[in-house]
Amino acid sequence: MRRKVLIVEDEPDIARLVQEHLADIGCDAVIAGNGATARELFDAGGIDLVVLDRMLPDSDGLVLCREFRQAAATLPILMLTAKSTELDRVVGLEVGADDYLVKPFSVAELLARIKALFRRVDALRQATPEAVVDERIEHDGLVIDVQRRQVNVADGPVELTAREFDLLLFFARQPGRVFSRMQLLDKVWGYNHEGYEHTVNSHINRLRAKIEPDPSNPRYVLTVWGVGYKFAETVTAMASD
Ligand code: CA
Repeated sequence: MRRKVLIVEDEPDIARLVQEHLADIGCDAVIAGNGATARELFDAGGIDLVVLDRMLPDSDGLVLCREFRQAAATLPILMLTAKSTELDRVVGLEVGADDYLVKPFSVAELLARIKALFRRVDALRQATPEAVVDERIEHDGLVIDVQRRQVNVADGPVELTAREFDLLLFFARQPGRVFSRMQLLDKVWGYNHEGYEHTVNSHINRLRAKIEPDPSNPRYVLTVWGVGYKFAETVTAMASD
């Protein structure tokens, strides 16, 4: 199965380079040089992944990212940014990007990230065939509907990005087990890269802001000082028809 990638990038040389390399890994890529074209190609449908430049002539990539995320909750989005401050990275993830690369980047690293995103999507599809029984994980007011990828807390449903959901599910399926940031990068992000541990921290913080009644005193995702994180113990896992 060939996959379709939307490359939103106003520098033609970069866009074509990425397009050529994507062809080598079995992806057909379409290129949008501005936000208006990107919206048209996106609306035409069939896009499996988006590579999205932050700075576009007519649009802010962050605005596009938010739009795409609202339209397609589980679509993998990888942002390219010339900015490398912590704040910019966090903002990119905040609007729903699954990953980001800072320019200038190596094509090999970009392809590795894209493959990792596809592996995650494939794993999710295999893990959630239509016929399986509903899996629910409940803990102290937190309810995770695994097949529907929905999360509820006492106040009602919570909107999580694809990555936030994967992270929460990964933890909740192994309550009490401690994971280092590197382990989480490896298992949830699909790559293990020194220096990206702050990505884990920012995701944990945003997840807590969404699910924890008191994020400064977490009840579900707990910090294990000097080691990493763990999910609180005594989870009720239930299967029903
Ligand atoms: Ca640009």
